[in-house]
Amino acid sequence: MLKIHYSLESDLQSGITDIAAPDELSVQVRNLVLKTAKRKQVKAGEIIAEHPSKFGGAYHAAGSGTVSNVDYHHLTIKCDGNDDKVEPVDVSALAPGRELLRTLQELGMDIAALSAPAEVLVVNGLNPEPGITVAEQLLKDEKETLEAGLALARKLIMPNRVVLAQAEGAAFSLFGAHIERIKPKYPNSLDALVVRKVTGKEFPEGVKVLSVMALYDLGRVALTGLPVTDTVMTIEGKNYRVPLGTTIRHLLASLGMEVRSGDTVVLGGSFRGEAVYSLDEGVKKGDYGLFAIGSDAFPPVQDATCINCGECVLNCPGRIMPNLISRYAEYERFEMAEKYGLNSCFECGLCAFSCTARRPLLQYIRFAKAQLKASRQSETSKA
Ligand code: SF4
Ligand code: SF4
Repeated sequence: MLKIHYSLESDLQSGITDIAAPDELSVQVRNLVLKTAKRKQVKAGEIIAEHPSKFGGAYHAAGSGTVSNVDYHHLTIKCDGNDDKVEPVDVSALAPGRELLRTLQELGMDIAALSAPAEVLVVNGLNPEPGITVAEQLLKDEKETLEAGLALARKLIMPNRVVLAQAEGAAFSLFGAHIERIKPKYPNSLDALVVRKVTGKEFPEGVKVLSVMALYDLGRVALTGLPVTDTVMTIEGKNYRVPLGTTIRHLLASLGMEVRSGDTVVLGGSFRGEAVYSLDEGVKKGDYGLFAIGSDAFPPVQDATCINCGECVLNCPGRIMPNLISRYAEYERFEMAEKYGLNSCFECGLCAFSCTARRPLLQYIRFAKAQLKASRQSETSKA
């Protein structure tokens, strides 16, 4: 019988290994604002796209080369292997305020958590999902960079209290941070549950959360003045630094991993990750894991009919009804999904993981949220 593994503990045997730069980068640009064009030459670190939202960070080329193709979904860069890169920005010279925030955004940081003061800053140091060990690897190996990120975050958020949330049994520290220990069992690593454990309240005011991964990126930007153009990912129990836009095909070949026809490759973790539809997809910001599932490991996920067994409701830490909400999403009745608590879902994926009928519950929920967001943005732009 298949044993479901919920533990968030790490067994870190080695450091972070660099994946060699690929010959070609594939960047997902759907819904982004393009800042380059086909046949243009780009330097490493040059902005190629911006996020349309007020807080989203810019996207940069991870290597120098020529933009060889652009379509609605992807931008492809043929890398030339040269060391042609952008000049660093002196982030430390900027005082807290709009200019610093705008500079961080231009360097690729999402500034939502940094753009207003808060009483408490929580650094989420738990590994995000079972089998993903990035957070503890960074806490173990990259303390100096994390502390540089924390100094910059303090400058902007001005918290009275900083808390490092980490797994029971772990012994990491960050300068000036109080320690809160949390049982290392999924979904305890999700921000909403970490905040509840630290403050004793659900969705309290005056609390900001940064993951260790976000703090690491902030620290690198603070120390180098250059945009972050890679991500750290756990693959088969080890951690790798992967240039953004590296195709899954290149990654698998570099690591000698074989994927057979019918297998599923997932970017992210086992509960919240998303299956890639092509091995030519590139690694994105925020991808912290990759794994392959053999075609015979699980029954396939399908748009089957809900049998009302109630398993998903029993497993939902958001105390909502994923069966009902997913049905409303499936039939595009998004307002009804919202009425029944869509926005209380923090996308842990436990409902989909436990669904007897193997319905894609998390995908339906994400679909409903995305559709509501898009329709509200379009209403605002018309007003
Ligand atoms: S993903 Fe599913 S189980 Fe998790 S909070 Fe949302 S509805 Fe509940
Ligand atoms: S677990 Fe799946 S089949 Fe059971 S009630 Fe939930 S959605 Fe329906």
